[in-house]
Amino acid sequence: MVKVLLKGGRVVDPGNDIDRPADVLIEDGKIARIGSDIEAGNAEIINVAGKVVAPGLIDIHCHLRDPGFPEREDFKSGTRAAARGGFTTLIAMPNTNPVCDHPVVAEYVLARSKREGVVNVLPYGAITRGQKGEELAPFTELVEAGCVAFSDDGQPVTNSGLMRQALIIAGAINKVLAVHCEDRTITGDGVINDGEVARRLGIKGIPYTSEAVMVARDILLAEETGGRVHICHVGCARSVELIREGKKRGINVTGEVIPHYLNTTEDDVQTLEGRFKIKPPFGSKRDQEALKEGLVDGTIDVIATDHAPYTIAEKERNFREAPFGLIGLETALGVVLTEMVHSGLLTLAEALAKMTCNPAKLLGLNKGTLGVGRDADVIVIDPDLEWQVDANQGASKSRNCPQHGRWLKGKAVMTMLGGRVVMQDGKLLV
Ligand SMILES: [Zn+2]
Repeated sequence: MVKVLLKGGRVVDPGNDIDRPADVLIEDGKIARIGSDIEAGNAEIINVAGKVVAPGLIDIHCHLRDPGFPEREDFKSGTRAAARGGFTTLIAMPNTNPVCDHPVVAEYVLARSKREGVVNVLPYGAITRGQKGEELAPFTELVEAGCVAFSDDGQPVTNSGLMRQALIIAGAINKVLAVHCEDRTITGDGVINDGEVARRLGIKGIPYTSEAVMVARDILLAEETGGRVHICHVGCARSVELIREGKKRGINVTGEVIPHYLNTTEDDVQTLEGRFKIKPPFGSKRDQEALKEGLVDGTIDVIATDHAPYTIAEKERNFREAPFGLIGLETALGVVLTEMVHSGLLTLAEALAKMTCNPAKLLGLNKGTLGVGRDADVIVIDPDLEWQVDANQGASKSRNCPQHGRWLKGKAVMTMLGGRVVMQDGKLLV
């Protein structure tokens, strides 16, 4: 029996309400015991004094680009970036080529990621065939093939009747629809937030209603159908208010925030670099405060990365033509710890809940806690480590990161998958 003892750390396992000094014993890839002064016996001892031991992070929103776009990312590079960032389970968005709207594609994602990846990957199924917004994908078959939820991310489901139907059918099998809220008729050819900076630079803006109108619609549809809607990448203050009100009414709505929005606003976009171009666009200081308030009062349940790799050539086109999307697997935890925990807005356990047990609970995953008998997907965090982001040193194939050059406080220094160390001090061991 392979035994590992993580000795002398502070165990923070929000799913089990644990935040105290303790040892963690791992046997044959599973959590065997958490307690004080566990006898090592024949276990390999890893000294984690001064560090935090937590469940591996779960990212319910990332783009791994396989199949279809290996020049941007693949399962090897994407999961290595994840391991460096402290993530042990990724839910891959289906906007690949082909789109994950057929069981064969889901099976491919599962098999290939298992062969090439260093962390767990599970697929989203598309809401509509080809993400074209015309006809629903076969939800039941996709679930049978391993899809854990549905999304057309990258594209809004414009047709309200179809979205309503999707909520009814997915609701009947208790699955979540993770929705990209955008009204393209309002977005038009806007590229950044429709605010002060856009006006000053004379650039076409995207009004916040492009997002909020669809957030309101999807909450209304969830209310009427009883379906479960999860609002991806919430970007503006008004959307936070809508989700808060929806929750008060008992509607099945949840929301997610992307870490970049916690330390980046429209002011940062003034340099017009591709690594700040994202949808929804970075908003005002007020929007940013609202996102933080939403995280603090529980309106926003989940923190996810929306890791969206693009090649340097794609991002170096002029700003208007460059694609929307930024990478974030390697910086997410650092940004969250810096902006939410070291600032005193959330406790460490509250912040980690939004990256471990909350996403697991949302999608019904048997992950995200250090419960006895669970897979030993465990990370060790140095919460006080100050480090400067260098996107050029990342494990991702892409470099489109708004955090490049910034200093963050807090980092995963070890990632274990099924009891095996896959990353230590930034180095991949597999
Ligand atoms: Zn999206």
